[in-house]
Order: sequence, then C-alpha cells, then structure tokens
Amino acid sequence: MQLLLKRLVEQNRHYTKYGKVANYIPELGKMDPDKLGIVIVDTGGKIYRAGDYDLKFTLQSMSKPIVLLLALMDNGEETVFKKVGKEPTGDPFNSMRKLETLSPPKPLNPMINAGAITVTSLIKGKDSKEKFERILDMVRKISNNPRLNINMDVYLSEKKTGDRNRAIAYFLKDVGILEGDVEEALDLYFKQCSIEVTCEDIANIGMFLANQGIDRKTGKVIAPKYLTQIVKTFMVTCGMYDESGEFAINVGVPSKSGVSGGIISAVPNRMGIGVIGPALNAKGNSIAGVKLLMDLSRELKLSIF
Ligand code: GLU
Repeated sequence: MQLLLKRLVEQNRHYTKYGKVANYIPELGKMDPDKLGIVIVDTGGKIYRAGDYDLKFTLQSMSKPIVLLLALMDNGEETVFKKVGKEPTGDPFNSMRKLETLSPPKPLNPMINAGAITVTSLIKGKDSKEKFERILDMVRKISNNPRLNINMDVYLSEKKTGDRNRAIAYFLKDVGILEGDVEEALDLYFKQCSIEVTCEDIANIGMFLANQGIDRKTGKVIAPKYLTQIVKTFMVTCGMYDESGEFAINVGVPSKSGVSGGIISAVPNRMGIGVIGPALNAKGNSIAGVKLLMDLSRELKLSIF
C-alpha cells in the first residue's frame, strides 16, 4: 500500500501545474501550488502516508459535513431540513443565483455556502463562544486530534474579505431562513472554515464517517449511524461542488473538498482518506487530488456503486 501511494502521488504530481491556488481569500493565496499529499487510515488503524502529507491547511468547505452532523444531532432532521433542502444545485458553491427564485426561499442543500451558513446558525450554545467550542470539540474528537485550532491569519483574512457570504447571509435573514444574529452566524462559519488540519486529521474524519459514527479506537458511538448516512449522501450528491456527478462516476466515494485544496473521503467500512493539493481546477477542486483519487479508486476498487 505504501509503495502504491508513493507511486500514485509521483504519477499525478505534474497535474498541479494545471491548477491555481484560491486567492479570493488572500491568505489562501499563499499556499504552495506544487504540493500533493495523501494519508489513508484503515479500519484496523493502519496509517499510510505519501507525498506532502504533513502540510498544514484549513478545513474550508470540508467543515460543512461536520457542522451539518452536529446541527442534526442538536436539532433533529425536521428542524434542519425546514431550513435547507436536499438537492444538488449545479451552480458554484457561493452562487446566489437561485436563492431569490426558490419558493420557499431555502438554500438547496447544506454543502453550498448559503446552506452551510444556515446550518451553522442552528448550532446550539449559550453564546457564540460556546457554539464555536462545540464545533471545535466535535472536529477534535472525530479527527482524534485534541490539539486542533484555528489558523488566525486565514480566519481574519476571510472575515475581512467575505462580503459575498455576508450578502448571502443577510438575504437569508431577510427571507426568514436565517434567524438570530447574522454577524454571529458568519463569524462562526468563518471560524469553522479556518480550523487548521493535516491529511492525517482529515483521513481520521473520513474514517469516522466510514465507520458510521463510531470512534475506531474506543468503540464509542459519537454520532447516530443514520445521521452519518445523511451526511455521506450529501457528500456523494453535492460534496465536490458542481463536479459531484463526474466525481461520483470516476471515483465513487463519498467525499468533500474545500478551497484550500483538501479532500476528505470516506470509503464505507474500509478506510478514511485525506488528500491535499492546493492547486485547484475551475470548479474549485484540487486538480491533482482528484486525479490521485481516481487512480486510487481504480487500483483498490473503492467505488461504492
Ligand atoms: N470559506 C470558504 C468560503 O466560504 C469556503 C469555500 C469552500 O471551501 O468551498 O468561501
């Protein structure tokens, strides 16, 4: 396995040249586009690493399935899906195009920014500090890494420049989907996106989802199985931006990408995979990371379909 991973990383590294690092969040623009790394954690606890696996990066949209899981645990399915839908959009993650035309005007799914900000606003806690601590605690628990924290530079950079997300959130407040304090919801969302991880952390998160919400080490149930199934289904239908259909055909594994170039994959009952490759394709997915996962899926027959 170790040799296979090493070969696949080197075989796909040249694709990084064809992508671009996200720079609409200025701090993300500083990432090195040439990097490509992967970590696999299997059900037996074996860990395999290759390439630039120790690179640090922020969760960005990879935080969306985790916060969705917590919101579902806090509020139940009915409350959450009163506010967000269950359908793919075919539009970019930060699009506002359909919002005004929908009736009721709720975001189509929790993986686009409009849906994710709404979901974040549903996290329980006595104040914004406690709400964020609960999110961070969940991420730490499912990544098996109690040391995780925010990258302050990325957080402040997005907070300063996130006007598109601000526009989306204020629109949602106006139409009654987002309740409570808009700035608080946005701040929480920017913070969850700025949690700093490595491939191993997100491979562990993938493993937790692959393992149906059970902690691999302790056997403790952290989240109900049926809620992890909902989250993984969204990862299949909407996890890879408006490239989710193609990714499902080519890779066939529930996955969520982020604009930092990371990808979390959960191969049910087999393994969690964490990939980083900051150079993105036009849809916002890691260009070499997707190619690497395609090859890996073919070699190990990972497709769930
Ligand atoms: N923080 C980013 C934003 O809201 C996350 C986007 C992403 O990773 O897709 O623009």
